[in-house]
Amino acid sequence: EWVNFVEFFHHIIDRFEMAKQQNVTFKRKLPKAEIFVEIDEDKMTQVLYNIISNALKYSPEGGQITFKVKELNEKIEVSISDQGVGIPKENLKKIFERFYRVDKARSRKLGGTGLGLAIAKEMVKMHGGNIWASSKEGKGTTIYFTLPYEPAQEDEWL
Ligand code: ATP
Ligand code: MG
Repeated sequence: EWVNFVEFFHHIIDRFEMAKQQNVTFKRKLPKAEIFVEIDEDKMTQVLYNIISNALKYSPEGGQITFKVKELNEKIEVSISDQGVGIPKENLKKIFERFYRVDKARSRKLGGTGLGLAIAKEMVKMHGGNIWASSKEGKGTTIYFTLPYEPAQEDEWL
């Protein structure tokens, strides 16, 4: 269905902000204008849930999570950045594989199965988008994904 992604994203961030137990601050850099995209709301909720859960899980005490939406040519780019432990460069692609977890000991302590990002990737692909990560060890991680977007043409309404 057609959804204003900005409003949809705000709602999901709101839910995490209300439920969070950690001392982590949320920063939103979302456009004011509406951005209508055709998405499966349940699946996109799962994508965002999996990414934001990781950001919280790997955030340090007092850290910040930044949420962004950028309008690009025929797509939007969504990003979620944390100030956590980060991921070594050589592992950046593997985190989207099923059951892959960077540091076995650390991951075991924090819990999880290693499926979250594999599911997110599958669902982003189903929407015609891409997903990737950038990270600096000890500084933090950003997960990006894109969704196809056609800005409404003014003349369509004339
Ligand atoms: P699950 O999501 O199934 O509960 P998980 O969080 O371990 O388990 P994924 O979400 O798929 O699995 O993430 C895979 C691995 O990527 C994680 O185990 C972790 O090592 C690494 N990772 C993911 N997100 C981050 C992040 N924001 N900061 C640091 N490492 C991360
Ligand atoms: Mg996870």
